[in-house]
Amino acid sequence: MECVHCDSSNLKEEFSYTNFDEQTPNNLKIKEKKIFTCEKCNLIFCANVNPKELENYYKIYENLNNDEKNKQQNTDLNWAPFNSRFFSQFLYFLQYANRDKINSVLEIGPNWQGILPTIKFFKNDIKYFFFDQINSESMKKNGGIQLGTYFDPYLKDLPKIDLVWMSHSLEHIHPKLLKPTLKKIYESLNQGGYFFIEIPDNVKEKVFNFPHTLFFKEDTLIKILKKHNFNIICSQSIEKKLVEIPTKLHSNEKPQMKKNLFLKMLKDIIKTFLTKEFKQKMLVNYAVKNINGPYSDRPNIRIIVQK
Ligand SMILES: [Zn+2]
Repeated sequence: MECVHCDSSNLKEEFSYTNFDEQTPNNLKIKEKKIFTCEKCNLIFCANVNPKELENYYKIYENLNNDEKNKQQNTDLNWAPFNSRFFSQFLYFLQYANRDKINSVLEIGPNWQGILPTIKFFKNDIKYFFFDQINSESMKKNGGIQLGTYFDPYLKDLPKIDLVWMSHSLEHIHPKLLKPTLKKIYESLNQGGYFFIEIPDNVKEKVFNFPHTLFFKEDTLIKILKKHNFNIICSQSIEKKLVEIPTKLHSNEKPQMKKNLFLKMLKDIIKTFLTKEFKQKMLVNYAVKNINGPYSDRPNIRIIVQK
């Protein structure tokens, strides 16, 4: 067995899947899946999953996952641009890149929403292509063009692109596809084009959950991207600072519940009565104030590179 990135045979079994006893939709045995760390390039990857197994996993998962479907149906698509993850990412991106130069975007793994609605809020005339197992309502509404499924990018002829977006998807691709996918992305980018990546910092939090198949430290991913000729524009590991929580009170928890109900009512009132423009202004104000802040309790790595 060799490293999928640098071909070194210096591999060690340092980590194992933390969700080893989870039941997968295609009855795959996570317990049998091995995670190897390359001692030369530090890449951490699943060593014994095959692409068909993964593709099946996602196919069945998408069909079974009614929660996601309900979420999709109940989401107000007018609010999609302000999804905290994507809004935070795109504001971050705009600090480093000129939106006027971005005319075509390729997203790999948008899932049921992706970056498209948020980009469209800032720039309406955008050509957007994507690879995923699903073609969601949001994609149909916003005019996304599906080029193939999640594992196809390295197989297909890609259009010329100004920006490639991978938000929480690089850690899902098959380890053997890492190299050909990065190569293909580089080739499809116009000179000066950007590649945005955000991945969970699973190594920092020591959570190795299948179906994640690739795990990177920030500096490992930077080195890999440099190897593929990308120029590093910026990188950041973001996480919420731990706030000391007082030990749990044993008294009843009703006051908190009441407070949450009140907040929910207040939000509903705001949603119902304020004009859309006013709500958007409020949100933009809020977001700009928190521009580099984490949107999640879990640590994430963000990297922007350029051709
Ligand atoms: Zn390696």
